[in-house]
Amino acid sequence: MVPFADGENLLTDTAASDGHPLNPTLPPKTLKKISAPSLLKKRMPLSSVFSPLIASKTPHPKSVPSFHLGTNGLRHPPKRTSWPSIPRSNRGRSIGIRCEGRDDSFYMRRCVELARKAIGCTSPNPLVGCLIVKDGEIVGEGFHPKAGQPHAEVFALKDAGDLAENATAYVTLEPCNHYGRTPPCTEALIRAKVKKVIVGMVDPNPIVASKGVERLRGSGIDVITGVEEMLCRKLNEAYIHRMVTGRPFVTLRYSLAFNGRVLNQLGQGAEESGGYFSKLLQEYDAVVISSNLFAKKTVRLPTSHETGASQPLHIIIARGVNSLHLPAPTTEPADKVVVLAEKTMIVEPKSEDVEIVVREQMSLKSILDYCAHQGLCSVLLDIREDNEALKELLDDGLDEHLVQKVVMEVCPIWCSGEEAFLAFGRKSFRLRDLQTRTVNENVVVEGYLL
Ligand SMILES: [Zn+2]
Repeated sequence: MVPFADGENLLTDTAASDGHPLNPTLPPKTLKKISAPSLLKKRMPLSSVFSPLIASKTPHPKSVPSFHLGTNGLRHPPKRTSWPSIPRSNRGRSIGIRCEGRDDSFYMRRCVELARKAIGCTSPNPLVGCLIVKDGEIVGEGFHPKAGQPHAEVFALKDAGDLAENATAYVTLEPCNHYGRTPPCTEALIRAKVKKVIVGMVDPNPIVASKGVERLRGSGIDVITGVEEMLCRKLNEAYIHRMVTGRPFVTLRYSLAFNGRVLNQLGQGAEESGGYFSKLLQEYDAVVISSNLFAKKTVRLPTSHETGASQPLHIIIARGVNSLHLPAPTTEPADKVVVLAEKTMIVEPKSEDVEIVVREQMSLKSILDYCAHQGLCSVLLDIREDNEALKELLDDGLDEHLVQKVVMEVCPIWCSGEEAFLAFGRKSFRLRDLQTRTVNENVVVEGYLL
């Protein structure tokens, strides 16, 4: 049993090895497969971009799990289907294909696409994508694949090689100007002699904030910030929230029948590869569920089915029960599970992948403090039919503005029964930035709490 206290060690480790004031002590994610990046396969040695590029500090094998994206932060797949394929020997010459009509927004949106290739793998670091553009032609692409690996700018500069000189770099997030596991990206850009840097958004990380822009401008590089800023902010909404508040970004999710009852099941296809729930599980560091979910023997731990997805840490809230029988793991390696209980309890079957944490006074705030202490940036609160164990937590959590986003699914079902209505929260408020999509006759609505 491991008791914890509210706010324990919250954001106290400012010496994070990747230069961010977050240093997870437990693995926020576990990965299904292992594939080491092959940095040395490409055209240009990374040492020519940075001399001391490779991290001097060996990452903890758990806090920085091995990476599986089938890529290494360089452009992927190598053969573009929707982009002009230009022989390298032709690049920079007059016969190269100019990207007529493409403006800064176009290139920044491509950077966001690149960054999203590493969804679920970079926490507690942000998702970042980078392009090197010369004479209207994209000559280098890269993204940050995971914490501990080089940043997006390094991969893009390596991809561009000597064509980076006098080119324009596009990057979704302000380049770092500090030494962490990797040297500053500002120095890489300066050394590569880029002429201009277009930045999507300034980094809210206090270690970075505006210092990267200042360093670049101080060395004579033209810098523009705020291109496609809203898109770049949405890309890293969890990272930004964590940096600003010290708490994880929290999303509440549930499925409703047409007559307003909360469902245990999800809509057709939601849990399959490509389904919204499978994607959420890939994206979020942790998923919080009620122990009541496992009263039905058929229920399994929520698992992402995206290819190569890292699985979230499963946090099970156990209230009013003396024992809990967990379903057999369905992933290899097995999902990590933390049972948050109000008292000592029995959890079967026993496993080294299951930890029990006792919390006598349970609240959403204390749960999020625990998550923050573990280095988790994003938490998915998954509400099912039998939600009594979570009701009090959510009532208080909504009052205290601890929930940032809601994803609601409405299924084409009329559900019988007297109970299982959603009745959370004591205050009234509006949501903003609503987005709606229909999949297999299920309507998924998401919005942000003000
Ligand atoms: Zn960097």
